[in-house]
Amino acid sequence: MIKFGPSGTDEAFAAAGYTHTTEVPEFICENGLDIFEYSFGRGVRISEETADKIGLAFREKGVGISVHAPYYINFAGEDPEKLRASFDHLFASLDAVRHFGGDRAVFHPGSPLKSDRKDAMKRLLAAMERFMVEFYDRGYEDRYVCAETMGKINQLGDLDEIIDIVNLADNILPCIDFGHLNARTYGSLKSKDDYRKVLDTLIDGVGAEKVKKMHVHFSKIEYGKGGEIRHLTFADDTYGPEFEPLAELLVEYRLEPWILSESAGTQSIDAKTMKNLYFKHCNDK
Ligand SMILES: [Zn+2]
Repeated sequence: MIKFGPSGTDEAFAAAGYTHTTEVPEFICENGLDIFEYSFGRGVRISEETADKIGLAFREKGVGISVHAPYYINFAGEDPEKLRASFDHLFASLDAVRHFGGDRAVFHPGSPLKSDRKDAMKRLLAAMERFMVEFYDRGYEDRYVCAETMGKINQLGDLDEIIDIVNLADNILPCIDFGHLNARTYGSLKSKDDYRKVLDTLIDGVGAEKVKKMHVHFSKIEYGKGGEIRHLTFADDTYGPEFEPLAELLVEYRLEPWILSESAGTQSIDAKTMKNLYFKHCNDK
């Protein structure tokens, strides 16, 4: 089943009088949504006890949960200690998502910093391969890491780079952030055919099975020369991308991704808009 939800708690969550993550599942259900992404962007800091309480609340309501690993993970780094720390942050994210009752941790693969992009990508793939050996040795095969397409041009994570990463192991899924792809290509996602090219490239690259259950981030994003500048809401009509052409293709290709809205403050509302658009096209068929 395709699933929709917000990434992080938004303005509507606070306005409804909610404060704690254990109240998120109730909020998700009230708003006709299915899933939630919890961000460890600034670090995995949560006790097992709290994580278990959150997990119980999500299980009781049948709401799905994924996590976003810390933003400072860099699998292309040259410093062995920092690379080890990146491994540990991603493992900690996978531990936490298990306590939450989920199985997906999204991560930003890395950045070349001051080094050559091709060399950085080689280092990244080698590091990721070592990470996955450890991943299977330590018994994480019931979980997924989702490698995200990135919005800034100087970050690793264009579509082809994500395909190379995803192909390293069975338990790596693509996290296609269409707002990021649109930002780093200066607004290339407009028509249904623009989206079709992305989906076909991805299916050719990693196979239909992984694309069917892929992870998706969607929001409109302002961009400039370097790509992504900031996340917007669905009220924006300058930068895009629009969800509707993608909704039609999700129906046509029978894909069942987890789709998270990363709008700036209106995630739950925009997630519902996407869900409604998807089912509008579904019912047309
Ligand atoms: Zn991200």
